Amino acid sequence: MSNWQPGQTIVIRNVHDGRPVGAMPVRVVSADDDVPVVWLPSGAPVMRPGIDGRFVREVPPEERYKSTERTPVLRHWQGEGILIVGRPGRAHSIWLFWEGAEFAGWYVNLEEPWRSSRIGFDTRDNSLDLWVARDGSWRWKDEHELAVAVEHGFVSPEQADRFRAEGERVIEEWPFPTGWEDWRPDPSWPVPALPEGWDEL
Ligand code: MG
Repeated sequence: MSNWQPGQTIVIRNVHDGRPVGAMPVRVVSADDDVPVVWLPSGAPVMRPGIDGRFVREVPPEERYKSTERTPVLRHWQGEGILIVGRPGRAHSIWLFWEGAEFAGWYVNLEEPWRSSRIGFDTRDNSLDLWVARDGSWRWKDEHELAVAVEHGFVSPEQADRFRAEGERVIEEWPFPTGWEDWRPDPSWPVPALPEGWDEL
């Protein structure tokens, strides 16, 4: 992370088969190499993997994996902003969610370890996720989606086992709270834009 400075906009991309299919412009909050932290505010333009102009999440899982073709679609981040705590070398990152001023919980996004890119970090989303509420209760998210992805050969059973094992490790290690739960953004910060050429590797 040493190339980046707090306040700078970088891009976290979701890269599949060498092609960026998703991208989030985020503001660097902490450039600590061990724990990079970035902020995605409400309204930020994000590219998300799409099928025929629809965001994949809007397509039923049964239809979603019939083709591997993904064309990014533009969406604006809805609701509250999120703080993303990077976990270098690990196959997940931790996303902090708030409801108004109140901290709501941690979304553990299972994904390939972040790799530095020209404009930020590249990863690959691993479908399965975890939601850990602030009271410590937790559950898997998108298990059905992963099952369908395996059924259609989009994800191998071995990969699915690997995604799940990382989630289990997180629960065992219990990295909560992260220390960022009382953090709040400066309201004067502008919403970051997606740079031109975001999809060039
Ligand atoms: Mg995910």
